[in-house]
Amino acid sequence: MRTQRQVVDYSLRKRAVLRELLAGRVGTYDVCDASPYLKNAARFHGEPTDERCPICRSENLIHVHYIYGDELKQSAGQARTLAELPVLAMTLREFQVFVVEVCLGCDWNHLVEQYLLGRDGLAGGTEGGPEQGAGGDAATPGSAHRRREAQR
Ligand SMILES: [Zn+2]
Repeated sequence: MRTQRQVVDYSLRKRAVLRELLAGRVGTYDVCDASPYLKNAARFHGEPTDERCPICRSENLIHVHYIYGDELKQSAGQARTLAELPVLAMTLREFQVFVVEVCLGCDWNHLVEQYLLGRDGLAGGTEGGPEQGAGGDAATPGSAHRRREAQR
């Protein structure tokens, strides 16, 4: 996603948890504790992945995207489908996304990554930025030109 920034990757932490589990220092009961809310979010808003669950190896993991931020008001803390995020990113200045992986087979769940989305990420001249934001005056000569081209 174009406005994605400040990405924090939690795969190292996940590997550490799995190591602890293999070593028997934590039980599956401790890490396979997905709440009914999380599982519902996975069912209705989740993004299926090709990745097998590292615990039960019988189900594929589902990614749930939680959104947080002042601009979201009452929607803050809700799960959103991946397809909804680019739309929100164009309407809001900034919001935080937390991606959680869930297994509906054994209730394994872990934070995958977090990042910021929103229009603020377009400031500072990223590629393709001004085509929408710069407004009418920039667009007019271009479209007039295109019109002339079409008449030829
Ligand atoms: Zn599982």
